[in-house]
Amino acid sequence: MDFEFSEPQRMVRDMVRAFAAERLRPGAGARDASGEFPAEIFRELGELGLLGMMTPEAYGGAGTETLAYLLAVEEIARAVAHFGSEELKGRVLPPLARGEVLGGIMLTEPGAGSDLASLRTTYRRDGDRFLLSGSKVWITNAGIGAYFVVLATRDAALGAKGISAFVLDARQQGVLVQPREKKMGLRSSVTAAVILEDAAVPVANMLGSEGEGMKVALATLDHSRLGIAAQAIGVAQAALDEALTYAKQREQFGRPIIEHEAVGFRLADMDAELEAARWLTYRAAWLSERPGRLGRTSAQAKLVASETVNRVVAAAVQVHGGYGYSREFAVERLYRDARVTTIYEGTSEVQRMVIARALRNMVTTATA
Ligand SMILES: Cc1cc2nc3c(=O)[nH]c(=O)nc-3n(C[C@H](O)[C@H](O)[C@H](O)COP(=O)(O)OP(=O)(O)OC[C@H]3O[C@@H](n4cnc5c(N)ncnc54)[C@H](O)[C@@H]3O)c2cc1C
Repeated sequence: MDFEFSEPQRMVRDMVRAFAAERLRPGAGARDASGEFPAEIFRELGELGLLGMMTPEAYGGAGTETLAYLLAVEEIARAVAHFGSEELKGRVLPPLARGEVLGGIMLTEPGAGSDLASLRTTYRRDGDRFLLSGSKVWITNAGIGAYFVVLATRDAALGAKGISAFVLDARQQGVLVQPREKKMGLRSSVTAAVILEDAAVPVANMLGSEGEGMKVALATLDHSRLGIAAQAIGVAQAALDEALTYAKQREQFGRPIIEHEAVGFRLADMDAELEAARWLTYRAAWLSERPGRLGRTSAQAKLVASETVNRVVAAAVQVHGGYGYSREFAVERLYRDARVTTIYEGTSEVQRMVIARALRNMVTTATA
């Protein structure tokens, strides 16, 4: 067993950490207030080569909204890399990796969230292309992204078997982007509904075979959930750092509040829970590089990390007292940004369903 990072891993971590400290952290509060999309930062990330190889944890607390659109890009990249033809990979992946274009995924619909197989967006063949029609909601990078993985059905009556996955170029007339959602957190990340009206997709842009859409989506989510776990850990780390700094400075009853046992114990719980979530996520990331099913492992990491960050940010606000409720302090933003992690990429309830389904097929859960 080896708990050390390798030298190349340390170099990437240090580079990302430095970038986060210099370029993401300083403007995070202002972007939260204005909701402005930081296009320049995105270009810089592309130039650094970071869009092709994500190390999201280091971004977490410093610029969570930046992470949200990076994760969306990573999702489409992973789906295309695993299920796309060589020609499609060559066409779509390089501009995404260079940061020249953004992308994302269009799965969720007004009537199909946790129950994706009930989606209603349809596709039909028209010569050498497919035409897609329907409504998608909550789409990260809608209106600013070029390429999106879209799930659509040949016939809703077929259920999961009727669903296929496509790479859609959103820069066309049949893609109607609705006004931006006014979100609680991740405010400079763009999220909007999208209406597809005979949006055209070349036949070569189908991912996997016809009818394999759910397989493509579930395999992609198995990996991308690790990104959300890492995001949760980054936010939790930032909240713990803020709380620690504050608890050492703030004095009440004649001494720094960290010396009051209730505050010290609160920080101790935050620290211990965060460390547990961190190592569960690292182990899942390590397993993701190896053969075998990742579903249960990545669901465990996403469930634990996202529930942990919500407890940690709430505790960090509490340690700040009234100041934790003020926009002047970073923990207020972290509290709002953390909230979505138990919701998107499958709610905590969905993660439990994935784990419980895996358990039904197991005799023992012992790993060693
Ligand atoms: C900021 C943000 C960005 C997003 N970005 C994207 C994106 O880029 N692309 C995309 O496709 N989607 C995106 N989403 C959508 C997101 O993935 C969905 O919101 C999520 O999967 C939940 O679906 P829903 O909102 O329809 O909730 P529902 O599925 O309606 O769930 C409502 C509640 O019921 C619970 N529930 C549902 N079924 C069960 C069950 N069987 N057992 C127990 N509990 C259950 C859920 O856990 C939840 O608590 C985004 C969402 C947000 C908030």
